[in-house]
Amino acid sequence: MQPKLYIIIPCYNEQEVLPITAPMFLEKLKSLSAAGKISGDSRVLFVNDGSRDDTWSIIEKLSKEDEHYIGISQSRNRGHQNAVLAGLMEAKDVCDITISIDCDGQDDINAMDQMVDAYLDGCEVVYGVRSSRETDTFFKRFTAQSFYKFLSAMGAEVVYNHADYRLISAKVLREFANFREVNLFLRGMVPLVGFKSTTVSYSRAERLAGESHYPLKKMIALAVDGITSLSVKPLRLITGFGVLVALISFIGVLWALITALCGRAVAGWASMTCIVCFVSGVQLICLGIIGEYIGKIYMETKQRPRYIISQRTWDDKSR
Ligand code: UDP
Ligand code: MG
Repeated sequence: MQPKLYIIIPCYNEQEVLPITAPMFLEKLKSLSAAGKISGDSRVLFVNDGSRDDTWSIIEKLSKEDEHYIGISQSRNRGHQNAVLAGLMEAKDVCDITISIDCDGQDDINAMDQMVDAYLDGCEVVYGVRSSRETDTFFKRFTAQSFYKFLSAMGAEVVYNHADYRLISAKVLREFANFREVNLFLRGMVPLVGFKSTTVSYSRAERLAGESHYPLKKMIALAVDGITSLSVKPLRLITGFGVLVALISFIGVLWALITALCGRAVAGWASMTCIVCFVSGVQLICLGIIGEYIGKIYMETKQRPRYIISQRTWDDKSR
């Protein structure tokens, strides 16, 4: 029997691009089903992430036009990661495989064929990896690549150049559901679940319409979230740095004592000021990093729901 596929698509203020890309997803679903790779009752599941424009009404309209389109709506905007998670958790008990993909047409939907093939060959997770970033601006390319390098240098295990375009089987999702953290960084968490995985490369195109919701500020926030959710390496680095500064200070103390004992102590205002400024700056940065982790612990202890679904398109009909 062919597996039942759910394509999970987070959408936030995407009224311009959704009417263009939605038929593309449906066409892909139908061609996969016609090729006998997936079952006919597969679905395209849109997750409206509290959009302020007409995104949800477009999704509702689509769901009335074709039964393969279904949608859920978050009660408010919670961010891309939470939207994807909401879709995955919604799908995990009703399908065999999920593929999450952005709704802007940047990720090549034709890679889905290879993803499904890899699943049929026995892989439970298939990561979509961007083979080239020619269509990205230099700035986007540079910041995105630095992002992956920095993440792995900081001890967060991620698949290089993989964003959130991936196939995950329902079997893996059921295990993944036990990862209860509220600070989500899906591309770092999925590898932790394990199971047989592979990658499929695709070239990334330009957004078909609308604007990116990931400016530099959000990318930095995502990188900080990624590192602090997956690794304690920054804390170890602080400790290492502290030891180094302590050693240097010890030598400084010896030097100061010897100078004083020899009666050659002079008023060293400049050196004193520099040391005080430097060390206090470093201390504040270190406190900030520790604070970042405490903030994470704080949010985790609250155990707030990671998503809240306010509406489903199939409230009035069966999926
Ligand atoms: N998105 C979302 N919630 C948000 C921001 C973005 O669900 O708060 C969705 C968005 O609709 C898109 C995907 O996440 O489908 C990726 O966003 P975008 O294309 O703006 O990011 P970029 O590709 O530029 O990194
Ligand atoms: Mg995009």
